[in-house]
Amino acid sequence: MSQTLTTRTTPELLTRPLRLLIGGEWTDGSGETLEILDPSTGERIGSFASASEDDVDRAARAARAALDGPWGRIAPAARAKLLWRLADALEEHLEEFALLETLNTGKPLFLTRQYELPQAVDILRYNAGWATKLNGETRDVSLPGEWHTFTQRRPVGVAGLIVPWNNPIVMAAAKLGPALAAGCTTVLKPAELTPVTAARLGELVGEVGFPDAVVNIVPGLGTVAGEAIAVHPLVDKISFTGSTVVGQHLQRTTAATLKRLSLELGGKSPVLIFGDADLDRAIDSAAISIYNNSGQVCAAGSRLYVEASVADRVIAGIVERASALRVGGGLEEGVTTGPLISARQRDRVLGYIEQGREAGAGVAVGGFAPARPGFFVQPTVLTGTSAEMSVVREEIFGPVLVTQTFDDPDDLDGILGRANASEYGLSSYVWTRDLSRAHRIARRLAAGNVRVNSHTGMDPNMPFGGFKASGYGKENGREGVEAYTELTSVAIRLGD
Ligand code: NAD
Repeated sequence: MSQTLTTRTTPELLTRPLRLLIGGEWTDGSGETLEILDPSTGERIGSFASASEDDVDRAARAARAALDGPWGRIAPAARAKLLWRLADALEEHLEEFALLETLNTGKPLFLTRQYELPQAVDILRYNAGWATKLNGETRDVSLPGEWHTFTQRRPVGVAGLIVPWNNPIVMAAAKLGPALAAGCTTVLKPAELTPVTAARLGELVGEVGFPDAVVNIVPGLGTVAGEAIAVHPLVDKISFTGSTVVGQHLQRTTAATLKRLSLELGGKSPVLIFGDADLDRAIDSAAISIYNNSGQVCAAGSRLYVEASVADRVIAGIVERASALRVGGGLEEGVTTGPLISARQRDRVLGYIEQGREAGAGVAVGGFAPARPGFFVQPTVLTGTSAEMSVVREEIFGPVLVTQTFDDPDDLDGILGRANASEYGLSSYVWTRDLSRAHRIARRLAAGNVRVNSHTGMDPNMPFGGFKASGYGKENGREGVEAYTELTSVAIRLGD
């Protein structure tokens, strides 16, 4: 029997409007009241008074004061301990968080419970380890005289963290983890559609002992709260994950204050499948890559290029897997594929499918919205697509795979030319058993992340980030933490 929200008790957190966390105090926002919907049903599950410019101003001031206070002098090991405690607390409340995330996003509960929450916990723990390992180094110089010269790393300052709705808790952890490890104070703005788990995380932040105002949480509209963070003179860095168009806008708005800026933006990632690959695994993987989280994944493998000799088998295999997916609400049993986040996003995806059809693409499977409440789109495969079609050029951010074939597996120039002919450059996937071909392709793909014979490979220790319109800067790894630091060089003249 399927379980829906109506058969569950509403979580305590959603029984009252969500609040903002500013300077260690929970307060109502003074901006517009926004509703929170369950995308599986389209029904309201909560609300919150969103952050206004004034609220963001108070949060930025509080974060600055905290940085200038004891937090600015806290020992690295103490920061590590706090982050580790936060990870433990999140893990202890994993079931609760998974449910909240599923209610707010419609994601299947197995996805939030088995993958996303554990991933958020891992990210926090991984970054806890970095707090004690951020060092400068001594340098040898060739100046006349005797010198002691070295570099020092210090926190960049107040970090404004702006995240999207597709992976709310993972994104919050991916930004808070390194920022706090580096010693920054933070102003986190969850997406307006998905403020729920960030609000609950804010409660844990206080419970595990972070000093007031080290983490401030200001859910609100991008054009109001996001904009206010971006232009605020006391915010030193923006780490943004979201659309390319807003990323470009942030380049302009942050220019006046010369804030540091990291941009994790959109993608249109190619999947290259050669005839010699382990085709069963490649088929499974290609399907997961595009249909996981209903295609609302920046690194989704959304453009398939398959060798013509195996194309029928591969495309039929993906179609079969797409047909077998169980589309439904996040709390329904057996569901593999949830809704899109909003009616707007659903209509946008359906609009792209229509454009594909009009341009001559075939619909091998899916291509429609199931007749039920909620914001669903059936997993879709478009065939016979070509480079100039909008469905091939633009990021759809939904469960839509566009497919093309190539004839000569040795024509790497031709294949790479097509794979790299995108304004984006986030991820890429290659399937072949030929080691030499795998390496030659991996070094020439114009993408920040290359995966061979896998669609995963995401690890907190693996730098993640894009080229071109997919943004710049890396998350994860040493690079991800260092992105929240400034490097000072110190030269001390000891004598002649
Ligand atoms: P979006 O750019 O509309 O919103 C992202 C965040 O930015 C939200 O919190 C939003 O409120 C805020 N925002 C919007 N306008 C703003 C402004 N003027 N100033 C400051 N902040 C503003 O994107 P979205 O629709 O929420 O997310 C989907 C996009 O995010 C997709 O393009 C996807 O590829 C991208 N994404 C990228 C990655 C990555 O790591 N590269 C990960 C997830 C999502």
